[in-house]
Amino acid sequence: MSDEMSTIRGVTRRDFVRYCGGIAALIGVKGVTDVDVARALDTLLGVRPSVVWTSFQACTGCAISLLQSRRPSVSDLILRQISLDYQENVMAAAGDAAEHLYEELLEGEFYWVAEGSVATDPPEAMLIVGRPSTELAREAYDRAAATIAIGSCATYGNVQASNPNPTGAMGIADFLRSDGVADPVVINLSRCPGNGEDLVATLSYVLVTGELPELDAIGRPVFLYGQTIHDNCFRRGHFDAGRFAEDFGDEGWEKDWCLYKVGCKGPFTFAPCGNTMWNGGVSWCVRNGTCIGCAEPAFWDQQTPFYEQSPGVTVPGIGGVSAETIGIGLGALTAVGLGAHAVAQVATGRLGKGGPAEDAGKTGGDR
Ligand code: SF4
Ligand code: SF4
Repeated sequence: MSDEMSTIRGVTRRDFVRYCGGIAALIGVKGVTDVDVARALDTLLGVRPSVVWTSFQACTGCAISLLQSRRPSVSDLILRQISLDYQENVMAAAGDAAEHLYEELLEGEFYWVAEGSVATDPPEAMLIVGRPSTELAREAYDRAAATIAIGSCATYGNVQASNPNPTGAMGIADFLRSDGVADPVVINLSRCPGNGEDLVATLSYVLVTGELPELDAIGRPVFLYGQTIHDNCFRRGHFDAGRFAEDFGDEGWEKDWCLYKVGCKGPFTFAPCGNTMWNGGVSWCVRNGTCIGCAEPAFWDQQTPFYEQSPGVTVPGIGGVSAETIGIGLGALTAVGLGAHAVAQVATGRLGKGGPAEDAGKTGGDR
């Protein structure tokens, strides 16, 4: 393939197709190939559907992460090229002009990307142009062709919803339920900040299959959030072999051993970070520290203290995984996740052989 440019500014056709291969693998639907994804994204960029991106209670990290990164990934570049008709952080319009634009856009067909939590108690805790976020969220949801909540604030409330939750902060879907919508259709893409790969993969899924992806019990696409951080962690072999860092900076830390004993929440956290990573695939949390479980509901209340070992998982002894490793988790899904990984380990002959070599993962692409 030549180095001709793709429809994505600054990305060659070769790199674009390679990227689409990664998205096709992430989607994991039988028969969906890199070519299908490339065609779908080309179509998307040709149609340029109207996207209204609003921010409620948030640090704006999702928008900054996706739209203003210095070294944007292909996902970030795709998102920049989608017709983001309303995005307060990057659009030129402000004041009255922005207000009128917003009103106009809500009269037409648009897709709503919601960032930030809704303030419900009291609703006046967050006013935009004199209107509470509750009213704005309900209006946008009722009129949008589809709603995607991006980031941990819009999905489950995040730190604003942590005890004592002084603004009654809620994620979009929870707010809609509390406002009388029996079964709101909101695709939740959690993680803090939201990840562009999730957004592009979800859009690609809809375009190539013509269907919404299957969602888990808390609204996240199963193809993205169906496995734990623990399932796809480059340190996992060390967990199974009973090799743990006991403190930050100790010998185990230096050798990239498992971080469960210094607080890693990977066994309880369902997210694709080990596959998609961050910053265009450069690195991710567990490469440099622990997973703090930011993709899960109420993570601030439930996953703190971040840097202490969580109860709920019996750690294996030195020399290999023990029977007790599997089956004690914070919930059934965790047990299933651990069990599934163990089955895969047995199938590939890795279990019971002392785990990987000390330098496992140091040069691999999975870290
Ligand atoms: S506990 Fe954390 S560091 Fe250890 S294998 Fe699981 S995800 Fe990786
Ligand atoms: S690795 Fe854990 S803390 Fe880091 S982004 Fe993923 S879910 Fe959040």
